[in-house]
Amino acid sequence: MKKTRKKIIILGSTGSIGESTLDVIRLYQDKFEVAGLAAGKNINLLAQQIKEFKPQAAAVKAAGDSIRLLKKVSAAGTKILAGEEGEAEMVTSLKADLVVSAITGIAGLKPTLAALEAGKNVALANKESMVVAGQFLKKAASRTGARIIPVDSEHSAIFQCLQQARKKFLKRIYLTASGGPFFRLPLSDLADRSVEEALKHPRWAMGKKVTIDSATLMNKGLELIEAKWLFDLQPEQLQVLIHPQSIVHALVEFQDGSVLAQLSQADMRIPIQYALSYPERLESCLPPLNLAEINKLEFYQVDEEERYPLFFLARKALLAGQSYPVMLNAANELAVSAFLEGKIKFGEINQIVEYCYRQHQPSELNSLEDIFAIDQKTRIMAKQYLNQLVNMKGK
Ligand code: MG
Repeated sequence: MKKTRKKIIILGSTGSIGESTLDVIRLYQDKFEVAGLAAGKNINLLAQQIKEFKPQAAAVKAAGDSIRLLKKVSAAGTKILAGEEGEAEMVTSLKADLVVSAITGIAGLKPTLAALEAGKNVALANKESMVVAGQFLKKAASRTGARIIPVDSEHSAIFQCLQQARKKFLKRIYLTASGGPFFRLPLSDLADRSVEEALKHPRWAMGKKVTIDSATLMNKGLELIEAKWLFDLQPEQLQVLIHPQSIVHALVEFQDGSVLAQLSQADMRIPIQYALSYPERLESCLPPLNLAEINKLEFYQVDEEERYPLFFLARKALLAGQSYPVMLNAANELAVSAFLEGKIKFGEINQIVEYCYRQHQPSELNSLEDIFAIDQKTRIMAKQYLNQLVNMKGK
């Protein structure tokens, strides 16, 4: 008798996490099958993925792209959907055991929430949706009984450590950060770093947005907020250590002083595979971790506010709560895009976010509409400041 395979939907299938997820599925075709794929604009890659994995449905952002895509893959028998409604229809109506949420930014929020509301388990790589709407995602999951399994490597590490122990004894957690490509650079050289330099992450191969966030350490700030919601923790229980080797992904300290950690190579396929196979574990596709070769593991406090101003701002937003994380995320998404497009310098990313932080008028978040309203308002404000910066350069 043929064993039933886990049916997987991947949101953001053409991005870095999406591709790594398909790598894992390719290795374990007896265990997993692709039920649905959603992507943004990379129609050529999506068409290849459809031909290889033959999902029941696929969704793209724009209606025009769905017509182009259908022409390329008409033989595969895959239903092609478009827009937010298409994404929602896919996660709601397809039969699936797990939805991998790997769209970058707040754009991933609606389909992730739709999946949880439909009672589907979610492997969460889209940290921004947890940052801006943690309480709504958690509420939906507890209402329908859907499980949220973290894919972010640090959160996967905490999740794994907590499988071995009771959470009521947890004292605090430590997320590790590599420190990014500029960890050892003199502070005076930071402001003018190029896009190419910022994209050269010392340890991880990841998507562009998260790689820039790693260089500013905003990524770790967002991850603190993500961890607060995922594990129901208080801000003072959330700590960060810089660990340049990126072998220890997180540590969990218990009341008796014991500390558990998860160690592995810095490769996203490890936490992705765990999220897919959970609660089972499968053989790794990577060579084993060789600690003797790595030789030393270092840890440092994050104490340089001038080097990582965005991390300190994110921690302030974590403490302030309410709408602060939504504003922070929106300003950062816009500033990082502007940097990647070559409009601003590296050092100006934090100027934009700081400006929005200073101007922000906090409010309660009572609905998803509140979140999108603050997101929009912040983007307009950030855009105005960005235009001022760009105009000043023109003179
Ligand atoms: Mg991470």
